[in-house]
Amino acid sequence: MTSSTFTVDIKLPETEEVQSWGMSHSVYVPVLKPTTIDEIKKIFIYATERKLKVAFRGGGCSYGDASIIDDGIIVDMSDYNHIIDGECKDGIIKAESGVTIQKLWETAIEKGYWPPVVSGTMFPTLGGALSMNIHGKNNFCMGPIGEHIQAFTFLTPTGEILNCSKTENKDIFYSAISGLGMLGCFLEITIKLKKIHSGKLEVTPISTSNLEAMFDYFDKNYQTSDYLVGWIDAFGRGSSLGRGLIHKANYIEEGKDPHFLENRKVVNQHLPSRFFGIIPKSWMWLFMYPFSHKLGMRLVNYAKFLSGKISSKSYKQGHAEYAFLLDYVPNWKYIYKPGSMIQYQVFLPKENALNGMKDILNHCQTKGIISYLAVFKKHRKDNFLLSHSVDGFSLALDFPVSESSRNKVWELAYELDNIVIQNKGKFYFAKDSTLRPVVAEKIFTSEVIGTFKKLKDKLDPQHILLTDLYHRIFLS
Ligand SMILES: Cc1cc2nc3c(=O)[nH]c(=O)nc-3n(C[C@H](O)[C@H](O)[C@H](O)COP(=O)(O)OP(=O)(O)OC[C@H]3O[C@@H](n4cnc5c(N)ncnc54)[C@H](O)[C@@H]3O)c2cc1C
Repeated sequence: MTSSTFTVDIKLPETEEVQSWGMSHSVYVPVLKPTTIDEIKKIFIYATERKLKVAFRGGGCSYGDASIIDDGIIVDMSDYNHIIDGECKDGIIKAESGVTIQKLWETAIEKGYWPPVVSGTMFPTLGGALSMNIHGKNNFCMGPIGEHIQAFTFLTPTGEILNCSKTENKDIFYSAISGLGMLGCFLEITIKLKKIHSGKLEVTPISTSNLEAMFDYFDKNYQTSDYLVGWIDAFGRGSSLGRGLIHKANYIEEGKDPHFLENRKVVNQHLPSRFFGIIPKSWMWLFMYPFSHKLGMRLVNYAKFLSGKISSKSYKQGHAEYAFLLDYVPNWKYIYKPGSMIQYQVFLPKENALNGMKDILNHCQTKGIISYLAVFKKHRKDNFLLSHSVDGFSLALDFPVSESSRNKVWELAYELDNIVIQNKGKFYFAKDSTLRPVVAEKIFTSEVIGTFKKLKDKLDPQHILLTDLYHRIFLS
């Protein structure tokens, strides 16, 4: 096609730097911010005619290279963000895919509903959340977000708009959710939320002296918990390997909270904008910065473990505060500057999880590369094509990366991959920075990858949708 036969023209903006959330990948590309379906369609035609690659981006909260592209156009969906039906009748909300989890819960909570599945941050969009099929601290009982989606409309790169649900275009429903933004664009999404009877949760902290104790607590308590999350002190050694602090949380039953109307108000969910009434939240990471080295993090992790030993009394905590604790220190990732960070999250089936995780923690210690923040969760299987979940447990490890340590961290990740393969585990693309094709094929199987690629050929025949992650794992 020559320039005279192009049917669509768009004035591309100047290139700008776009980073992965963990700041370890950067690209310089033009970024378009459509607000309507017609604008998204136009971008597809523009890119197809000029053979350009397009990567969708929501809130940019994927830790690695999932929503960036080195050579192409980034389509930032965050301005396509209207709530179409926010009445919340029977807990159902319909929204454009650029609506964030924050806007979703803020729309719902005063009507007595809360999103059934949220990530540890409220800044992802619905489109990004579906593309990765996010899980929460309640994955063991609620499954991933995809299970709560009633329907969505989906724009394919050829310009077709498909209605998808568990019964209509079922194969696309189960593949686009978890589909890494590689099959088309989520447009309007209908989600069913969970009824709540209080703006607060009943939270109990429990210190566990090692990894066995953490597994034991999860096994004995998951059936009576609505949420469970473990923070692991990855510096603990020997008989203290995997010691940590669990936060168990439960919904408050109907009629048990006399202050429901008051504490479900959005203003009462948000934490104060200043710490101790003085320090603006946005400065808080500066106070954490002096601890951002091995010794400092050893102290911080130990203090966290001890805090649960000192007091294991239950307390009430707002839904937002419990779910999005990390958001209350805006830009906490800057403690890794001038370097960056990656997260390495593994999912191991329950029969192999304890030994596999011990091997992982021990191996990190042997190599002298220890995670500053390690999080433990329980999971169940789901039916989505590129599912990351297993009937088992996950361990998410945050590693600092500097120019001098980068190769060593990647080498460590490759070594840990072998432990995950031996234990029949899985990985999560939203967190990934290091996975190689040979490992992905072993873990997700060539059959599943083949099915996904066939669907991509059908929906995106010119292969205009691409991200650096998809290129690294599925095309290299
Ligand atoms: C502090 C922190 C805590 C987190 N905690 C959790 C957690 O507890 N559980 C969990 O599961 N995840 C967690 N995450 C990861 C995060 O939830 C996922 O990476 C999520 O996908 C981010 O959504 P996003 O809108 O930022 O999407 P992006 O990261 O911008 O993009 C993610 C994917 O979605 C695609 N995409 C975006 N919009 C569309 C669209 N409209 N149509 C089609 N494709 C689209 C992109 O191409 C990309 O492949 C956490 C991340 C952070 C930073």
